[in-house]
Amino acid sequence: MILFKEAKALNQFLSDQKKNGTTIGFFPTMGALHNGHISLLDQAKKEAQLSICSIFVNPTQFNNPDDFKKYPVTLEKDIDLLVSHGCDVLFLPSVEEIYPPGYKAGVYDLGTLETVLEGHYRPGHFQGVCQVVDRLLEIVNPTFLYLGQKDFQQCQVIQKLLSLTGRNEQVTLRISPTVREKDGLAMSSRNLRLSQSQRALAPALFEELRKSKEALPSKPIEVIKQEAMRSLTEKGFVVDYFEIVDTQTLLPVNDRAKPAVALVAAFLGDIRLIDNLPVN
Ligand code: AMP
Repeated sequence: MILFKEAKALNQFLSDQKKNGTTIGFFPTMGALHNGHISLLDQAKKEAQLSICSIFVNPTQFNNPDDFKKYPVTLEKDIDLLVSHGCDVLFLPSVEEIYPPGYKAGVYDLGTLETVLEGHYRPGHFQGVCQVVDRLLEIVNPTFLYLGQKDFQQCQVIQKLLSLTGRNEQVTLRISPTVREKDGLAMSSRNLRLSQSQRALAPALFEELRKSKEALPSKPIEVIKQEAMRSLTEKGFVVDYFEIVDTQTLLPVNDRAKPAVALVAAFLGDIRLIDNLPVN
């Protein structure tokens, strides 16, 4: 695996590769890698000739400074994992490489995607996500971009970013299914911060999503939501939202024939977990 820390050197290397006709599969991460991230690498390796991972804990997407400070960092393990799974390139930039002096943050018109669900509870988060992904795409200019369905709303936001910036002409977005632990808990870097007792409770998020899918044909959506929130609250979660929405607009579903997804965000202590499940 080749390690790059400088944007310019990486950009030059990848431009040369592309000139030779090499296809590039890119998956951006914030590190503390797990099998969810590795599933993106596996897909990149299947489809593209060169796989590239970035690890960058992007300060501009954290609306909570404490969450940023406590974000897990396991760099040596990450490098071992990437090497053992055959990743070709790792980009490990500093904040200055991503946001150099004189960098002007773009403002992205994400419409209601930015005001619902995560957008509502984490103001500014998706602007930060768009800033970093836009900049990374400028540097890497990949053929394929791999994202995880675990961050369902983020996938919609990046899709919108690609069309807003015209980058959808050059890069194809691929969305990978959520990788879960045996007990159903969606893999997440933040799981590393859970205490033993919190870890034992955490699979309830997926359990409630699964129950909502089962109940959808026979129960009103409002009742399903209330039951899920009550059950999670009783177990000790502090729930931001449990919603069942249209998969495209992320707005409440009026037409039950349309594809819908159940999404949940809830705290265990100060650790905020999210998960989702398509329900029809
Ligand atoms: P993160 O490091 O959390 O920013 O995630 C980097 C990428 O990995 C994002 O596209 C995530 O959606 C994806 N990802 C994170 N967790 C999982 C998972 N459990 N299954 C599949 N993809 C994931």
